[in-house]
Amino acid sequence: MEEQILNIFCEDTSMQTNKSKINRLGVISAAILMLLTACEQTSLTSTVTTHEVIESSMIENQTTAPNTNIESDPIVLDSKNEAPLVLPQKEEVTKDLYETGKPKEEPVLTNLLHSTKNSTLKPIYSVGKGEVAITIDDGPTSHTEELLKVLRANDTKVTFFFLGQNALSYPQSVTTAVYDGHEVGYHSNSHPKLTEMDINGQKKEFEIGLGNINKVDHNLITLFRPPYGAYNNDTKVLTEDHNMKMVLWNEDPRDWSTSDPSIVTQHVLSQVQQGSIIVLHDRPSTIAALPEIIKGIRKKGLKLVTITKDKK
Ligand SMILES: [Zn+2]
Repeated sequence: MEEQILNIFCEDTSMQTNKSKINRLGVISAAILMLLTACEQTSLTSTVTTHEVIESSMIENQTTAPNTNIESDPIVLDSKNEAPLVLPQKEEVTKDLYETGKPKEEPVLTNLLHSTKNSTLKPIYSVGKGEVAITIDDGPTSHTEELLKVLRANDTKVTFFFLGQNALSYPQSVTTAVYDGHEVGYHSNSHPKLTEMDINGQKKEFEIGLGNINKVDHNLITLFRPPYGAYNNDTKVLTEDHNMKMVLWNEDPRDWSTSDPSIVTQHVLSQVQQGSIIVLHDRPSTIAALPEIIKGIRKKGLKLVTITKDKK
């Protein structure tokens, strides 16, 4: 009996121990579960943060790119994450949107359909002795009316390289530029890198873009500047086929790299010399810099000309 009671007691004690073990296990499991949940939440948070950074850098990089739909993006940007990641990329991407550097002919990619004709066209890189030409690419834009006003006030003629698709959006600026006596050149329809396209793609770009500008301006366009200054033998063949001259540049003040007009002015005036063809873009800071640029060029005794209009 005594043994039996002891057994029961022991059994009971053992049960109690098991129960308390189960309870302890339960507490530990709950703790592990909580820890796991916390980890998962942290990982989720960091995923979102990474996502936000990627998105924010993408949006930042697209500020000057066409067809961006920033408003539809539901992600709230964390401004803390933007600066260190975005700034180095921003210049890189912005640079890719504009003409810059020293243009030179690129080889035709061997896998692309290309012309069998070998072009002897020589692009224009400079103007004459004692002369300087200001060229302005990528218009017309919403800023072009202001630009034309500044040029009128400073009695200066420039050479525009207009995009076909932009000419349709701002037709009035094209006709005003022509009316004011500026030279109008062609800069493709949608600003693609022509050297990455086969001859048919380049041809289509020429025809659509020129067609769009001619809907607005019926004058014959004789000057072509390839986007980014990127051209190959096919581009030269097509330029000749369209009875056009290719105009590049020999002075790149990198006006796209700053929004400070005084820096644009300083860059232009520190490089300018007789024969300069200066590549600039239809941007507010460049427009704001133009009066000082024009004044500075004239002060050096140089004459501002268009590429060919003044010689006709
Ligand atoms: Zn351009």
